[in-house]
Amino acid sequence: MIKLYNTLTNRKEVFKPISSPVRIYSCGPTVYWYQHIGNLRSYFFADILVRTLMYNGLKIKHVINVTDVGHLTSDADTGEDKMEKAAEKEGKKAEEIAKFYFRAFEKDLRKMNILAPWKWVWASNHIKEQINLIKKLEKKGFTYKTNDGIYFDSTKFKGYGKLANLKVDKLKAGKRIKVGEKKHKTDFALWKFSLESREQEWDSPWGLGFPGWHLECSAMSMKYLGNRFDIHTGGEEHIPVHHTNEIAQSEAITGKKFVNYWLHGRWLLSSDEKMSKSKGKALTLDKLEKRNYKPEHLRYLFLMTHYMKPLKFSFENLDAARNAYLKINRKVIELRQDSRKGIDRTKQYDKEFLKNLNDDLNTAGALKVFWNVLDDFDFSPEKKIKLLEKFDSVLGLGIKEMKQDELKIPREIMKLVLEREKLRKEKDYAKADILRVRIKEKGYILEDGEQGVRVEKA
Ligand code: AMP
Ligand code: ZN
Repeated sequence: MIKLYNTLTNRKEVFKPISSPVRIYSCGPTVYWYQHIGNLRSYFFADILVRTLMYNGLKIKHVINVTDVGHLTSDADTGEDKMEKAAEKEGKKAEEIAKFYFRAFEKDLRKMNILAPWKWVWASNHIKEQINLIKKLEKKGFTYKTNDGIYFDSTKFKGYGKLANLKVDKLKAGKRIKVGEKKHKTDFALWKFSLESREQEWDSPWGLGFPGWHLECSAMSMKYLGNRFDIHTGGEEHIPVHHTNEIAQSEAITGKKFVNYWLHGRWLLSSDEKMSKSKGKALTLDKLEKRNYKPEHLRYLFLMTHYMKPLKFSFENLDAARNAYLKINRKVIELRQDSRKGIDRTKQYDKEFLKNLNDDLNTAGALKVFWNVLDDFDFSPEKKIKLLEKFDSVLGLGIKEMKQDELKIPREIMKLVLEREKLRKEKDYAKADILRVRIKEKGYILEDGEQGVRVEKA
């Protein structure tokens, strides 16, 4: 029995798929810059969901969209188009920018051991589908025209805001949304006219322009997954606007429930606020690698916190994750060389592992079971390693690839370590610290313990 927390009902529910394969849609990247590690947390969470369902023997159809048009600097359909703005800044075409950042994103996903979806779907390749949805909405009387676009009338859709429990009439203008020519604060653009010259624009029955951002997810999810599908994921900020609007426009068209389970990942925070590009505090995987961290260290850090809890990023936390990861690495290598006989506890541990994952993707709990297995002295090493590798089909830490040479310390580093030890004995801590930094720059970290210093590859 798999339980998932459904934002729509505000409780954990038993997951019942509509049919096989399970159909999942995840809101993907807006490809105007690198995806930062906050974004990566979102895809990591979707990856854990997919892998958990697969561990339960289910087949999956997972779709992720690529937003390469229409996402304005404000989610409420105002401001500049993020893609057009980036293209202008970099002196390139929006299409080039999109391809470049998408490739960088795909590379990061591979490094993070995040499974590629069944389909990547690009907004600019589905303009026809989006126009068709607007035509249907127009026919059913859900739209109206202003001087800058075609809008969805949120008051015509019964139950608007149910996902976020929005009290629509209490929303203050100017707080979330500038009303402008819109009739109601919560109305949103389906089609925006090209009022200024822009690179990305298409003909439509309403004039030259481009689709509103919320529309792409309805158009593409329904095209590839059907009018009603199982699970929709995204970051928490999508609850009150983007996903609320997706539900409104999709259900207005079909008259049926759009998605059964809405799952939202909480943010990765830098200090106390959302990690975001606009706040200028966004870290990329590349930056972490330059500081000698491995993508697996970040994955381990993510595993330690439930997806519905905010996670404050700090290098201290990442260091702790790296230490734990290196410890696993060491133990796994020892285990492979261990020829002792032992008892088989596979069934019992596997059950415990699955119980944690099936309890709304409790990765921290699953990780605990992983450690219990690793530290169980009586458990047959041969069976143990098999089970850990099986667990890794969800955890994605690369247990099979863990090698001895990761742990070997080159002579040059050892020389610096010994030199530092000498300085510490002479109580010359300032110089010793300088050596620690040099060692770190070369990709190794030191841990001073009771039995002396331990050197590990970063
Ligand atoms: P974007 O490229 O801004 O459209 O975002 C792509 C995905 O990353 C969306 O699902 C967002 O909700 C998610 N996201 C953005 N910032 C964060 C963050 N700091 N922590 C976790 N997820 C995030
Ligand atoms: Zn979306």
